[in-house]
Amino acid sequence: MINKTGKVYLIGAGPGDPGLLTIKAKECIETADVVVYDYLASAVLLNYAKNNAQIIYVGKKGGDHTLTQDKINLLLVDKAKQGFDVARLKGGDPFVFGRGGEEAQMLLSHGVPYEVVPGVTSAIAAPAYAGIPVTHRDHASFVSFITGHENPSKKDSSMQWDVYAKSNATLVFLMGVKNLANIVKNLIKHGKPSDTPAALVRWGTTARQETVTGTLETIVDRVRQAGLKSPAVIVIGHVVSLRNELAWFDKRPLFGKRIVITRARAQASGLVSKLSKLGALCIEIPTIQIAPPKDTAPLKDAIKNIKKYEWLIFTSVNGIKFFFDTLFDMGHDVRVLGHLKFACIGPVTKQRLKDYGIISDILPKTYRAESVIDAFSSVQIKNKKVLLPRARLARTILPEELTKMGAMVDEVIAYETKLNDEDKEYLISLLENNEIDAITFTSSSTVSNFMSQLETKNTKQLLKNIVLASIGPITSDTARSLDIEPDIEAKEYTIQGLVTSLLAYYESKSK
Ligand code: SAH
Repeated sequence: MINKTGKVYLIGAGPGDPGLLTIKAKECIETADVVVYDYLASAVLLNYAKNNAQIIYVGKKGGDHTLTQDKINLLLVDKAKQGFDVARLKGGDPFVFGRGGEEAQMLLSHGVPYEVVPGVTSAIAAPAYAGIPVTHRDHASFVSFITGHENPSKKDSSMQWDVYAKSNATLVFLMGVKNLANIVKNLIKHGKPSDTPAALVRWGTTARQETVTGTLETIVDRVRQAGLKSPAVIVIGHVVSLRNELAWFDKRPLFGKRIVITRARAQASGLVSKLSKLGALCIEIPTIQIAPPKDTAPLKDAIKNIKKYEWLIFTSVNGIKFFFDTLFDMGHDVRVLGHLKFACIGPVTKQRLKDYGIISDILPKTYRAESVIDAFSSVQIKNKKVLLPRARLARTILPEELTKMGAMVDEVIAYETKLNDEDKEYLISLLENNEIDAITFTSSSTVSNFMSQLETKNTKQLLKNIVLASIGPITSDTARSLDIEPDIEAKEYTIQGLVTSLLAYYESKSK
């Protein structure tokens, strides 16, 4: 075998918002054998990596280096020489204060091939997300990116304070929070008017973004008062005043709200993406784990005898998934279901069923078991054989009522939901430190599993200032039975309904 040298891709991972990763960067992460990343790159991007990729953290946080730059360099060379393609992820753009240039020179000197994938730099993106365009025809015709790291009192400083002070450029300082007072002092000393607008944007482009504005005269005090720390960009110039008009990111209705998602991780993405788009910071604390049933025989038997059924009813997306997984594992395809009529509990299950090429015959008006029963009142179900693949411990009302209507119902367990308390300590620390604004409950078991994790803690006290949002009346009843009262109950018992109600709640509060 030819011992080929791998290639190193020096990749800009963008400023934090995972959506600001370039398509090329995503492709490089997907194909890399080794992914080397540091502190500022959003960890979500690692999900794009191949399953068997080696993921190596070499992060830097302030002065606290996990690996020195020399060791990082050696690591890149070493992995490439072993024949691996390496994705080297760096925050923002690799060539803007990212030491990407040094890494490229070093790769070159070792004969390791490389490519550079530019990224969206925080120097432009963080101001943009704060509503500050770094250039504007009326305000600034050029922009400078300046290191804020260098001690301005250093004798052989490369800082050209007189140039910065006299130009009408927008000045963007990176790595400058600790040096802010010095930066401001030098600019004023060299003639920059003290009423020049200034802003700091911390954790730009993320749900944790914070912005403090002022003038050269006031900014130091304001930043101190706000307790704003690194990482932040400092923007100085008249463009900063445009923020009053152009702010958008932090104006989104749920901006800055820290919302806990208690659904199973595999199911959380829809809710997380809807809330994130509205500006919320979602904290996933799955209280449920979804697993195949311990005994798969009953579901398999039902599928073996599928011809004897006339109706197939699904009350959850998981029921659909596990039913079809089993069906396909048994070597069948959907044609064996051709004789059946179908019912779903709501629009999401209906859509999921459609993904398998099947249109539900019945869709209830509201999305819970009682409504399914109403929907069946106009259907001849007497003496009909009904298969109901569901979770263990699902509510019994549906099979009971259908049986009363004369149907012959076989309930089989298609999956199990188990308590997940892996994040218990994290949850309690968030509650104790007031780091949660709202908690979403999307089923009865999310409530009971959540409450069981608080154990003997003073739950009333812990949940006192937190908005509790329930997906519907059944979930709310479970909450009440555990002595907590939801502040919000969705009008439509779906994820979208829950989001709409949360939004309405916060909108009414802000009036
Ligand atoms: N290559 C990076 C910069 C690395 S230097 C880029 O192009 O963005 C690290 C500095 O970048 C931090 O000290 C801070 O000034 C800035 N920075 C990086 N990410 C940031 C973010 N999300 N919000 C604000 N500043 C950020």
